Amino acid sequence: MTLTWETLDLHTAQPFGIARWTHSVYPRTIVTFTRDGIVGRGEAAPNAFYGETRGTVEAVLPLLAEALTDPWDWDGLRAGLSARMPHDHPSVKCALEMAALEWCAASVGLPVWKLLGLSPAPLPRSSYTVSLAGLDDMRRQTREAVANGHTVLKVKLGTERDTAILEALREEAPDVALRVDANAAWTRPQAKRMLGVLDAVRVEFVEQPLAADDLVGHAELRRLSRVPVVADESLHHVRDVIALAEAFDGVNLKLAKLGGPLQALAALRLARAHGLGVMMGCMIESSLGISAAAHLAGLCDWADLDGALLLADDPFSGLHWTAGDLARPQGVGWGVTRG
Ligand SMILES: [Mg+2]
Repeated sequence: MTLTWETLDLHTAQPFGIARWTHSVYPRTIVTFTRDGIVGRGEAAPNAFYGETRGTVEAVLPLLAEALTDPWDWDGLRAGLSARMPHDHPSVKCALEMAALEWCAASVGLPVWKLLGLSPAPLPRSSYTVSLAGLDDMRRQTREAVANGHTVLKVKLGTERDTAILEALREEAPDVALRVDANAAWTRPQAKRMLGVLDAVRVEFVEQPLAADDLVGHAELRRLSRVPVVADESLHHVRDVIALAEAFDGVNLKLAKLGGPLQALAALRLARAHGLGVMMGCMIESSLGISAAAHLAGLCDWADLDGALLLADDPFSGLHWTAGDLARPQGVGWGVTRG
């Protein structure tokens, strides 16, 4: 039995901007668990907002890797990870959980979604992100996305010029479904001012308008808004879902912040029990991480899985996209291959 890992840099084809930052390079770590000649792989996509960097991933991986001894003992893996690091390092935990799941699926020759008994329903059409940039650049991104066949766009906002951006993009793309993500950057008064604009340009939903810990503000906004309000940065842990049910209409699940596919599945079921809409989201990730998220997307209302589509150098292949439509992965394990 061996567990190895490799750190690599993913590069986006264009600089990727949100309210907090703009980056073109994304450090990722690919974990490989091997036993009896069978391999399971996982991806760690650390995000500084959740307290992770390449340095923290490299620092804790040797310790957390000790928890992966029996790939079939998923509860034992979770307990072992929590015992070593109770609260943090979700992307590392995600990578190890992914590796255990793929090893089990590969050992019985199945895709992971079949191993887990998940619905074979088609995946919701994914949004494609228009990243935050100058207005001309955002217009260009929108025109290119529409020309490439995308019909669902997620616009990154969180500036003083958001009204002008939204009006311009709606002009560029009158027929697409428009979603908005403010990445926690609006103040309460700004968010209230934006409600009329969101409604006027027919936004499908608004993601994380206010600060992550401002549940009171989100609850108030939800009461005033005709547009659904979806939590992303406010959701760090499975258990957060319960507290979010009053303040939001839906939640954005990402494997890398929740600690893996099984944790995301637990959050998904908790969200459904509380009447919340559910989106399957992602970080900037290779097709390995995106495939793992896609395995759960058939259970969700919305999908935002374009992370690998934005890359110039995706090291994995095997996912089949037609614009925003991702075919359910059918191969063994996560259904993607290196190269
Ligand atoms: Mg978001």
